[in-house]
Amino acid sequence: MTRVFNFSAGPAALPEPVLKRAAEEMLDWHGSGMSVMEMSHRGKEFISIHAKAEADLRELLAIPANYKVLFLQGGAIAENAIVPMNMLRGKTSADYIDTGEWSKKSIKEAKKYAAINVAASSAATGYDRVPARAEWKLDPNAAYVHICSNETIGGVEYHFTPEVGDVPLVADMSSSILSRPVDVSKYGLIYGGAQKNIGPAGLTIVIVRDDLIGQPHPALPSAFDYQLQAEADSMLNTPPTYAIYIAGLVFEWLKDRGGLSAMEAHNRRKAAVLYDHLDASTFYRSPVQRADRSLMNVPFKLKDESLDGAFLKGAEARGMLQLKGHRAVGGMRASIYNAMPIEGVQALVAYMKDFEAQHG
Ligand SMILES: *Cc1c(COP(=O)(O)O)cnc(C)c1O
Repeated sequence: MTRVFNFSAGPAALPEPVLKRAAEEMLDWHGSGMSVMEMSHRGKEFISIHAKAEADLRELLAIPANYKVLFLQGGAIAENAIVPMNMLRGKTSADYIDTGEWSKKSIKEAKKYAAINVAASSAATGYDRVPARAEWKLDPNAAYVHICSNETIGGVEYHFTPEVGDVPLVADMSSSILSRPVDVSKYGLIYGGAQKNIGPAGLTIVIVRDDLIGQPHPALPSAFDYQLQAEADSMLNTPPTYAIYIAGLVFEWLKDRGGLSAMEAHNRRKAAVLYDHLDASTFYRSPVQRADRSLMNVPFKLKDESLDGAFLKGAEARGMLQLKGHRAVGGMRASIYNAMPIEGVQALVAYMKDFEAQHG
């Protein structure tokens, strides 16, 4: 068996110890005689798996008691509609910060439900930054302020939590959640799909302050009603049981590794290996302003883009996959989530040096 270095943006690499444990437990989970996939979501075995996953997530992120944790389905793209349908609370407008492809998608979808004020945008500079907080034109009557904490495609990340006064801050954290500690109390709502930094596709995590729920849009489907799901422990419908189980194993793995401060230190060391090389080189470059570079998704360009195909082919031959950048931005992108070991990034940089020596 050979495992590759998988730089996919999502679904993405999972920690090997998690996959091994899932394999060991596949046919018979803890003497139950069944796979987790075969269990009733209302049985005591699965209820214990679900409760442990929630407790561990609460511990990792230090989630305050007045926040609900929901394990839902639909992904972040569904949340683009579900968020306004839950969070408008009788108001008619919301503020959005536009930092790239995922922000744009959120804005487009939210426009079906409310008047959307794009309070700041970095479109004019090619989405190479997070607009400085001083430039944001927020509306104090907005229902919420929406940000994308980490633009998975553009590689732009917030390295600060914006102050937005009394208006709840809502964040799409799909690709940065659990990469470092977050002060949850600064947010009204955090959401994200699991398939970047948590577990398999199919699970969507929502963390929401409890006073903000319970005033849904009248046409909101019950399965997406945060209040109803909170009252039902996320079991108003059948939850994505196997994805929750794997996410729970990832949470245990993160705790074993020392929690999110330790992960942040590791992620910073890892990202620095790549960014330092990009900055030292004239053959490769990062398109993102230094202060706003993502620790999780590192887009980079070759000076001569006609070499892109050869670069990708050579990488693949060395067992480094999924380095092609998103079609919206071109070039390359290395996604280096929690599960990517530093050896993977070191191998990539060694290859980049060899490739430059051959073609530079
Ligand atoms: C991947 C991603 C999405 C889309 O997630 P789906 O699971 O496809 O709905 C949305 N936002 C961000 C920041 C992402 O990285």
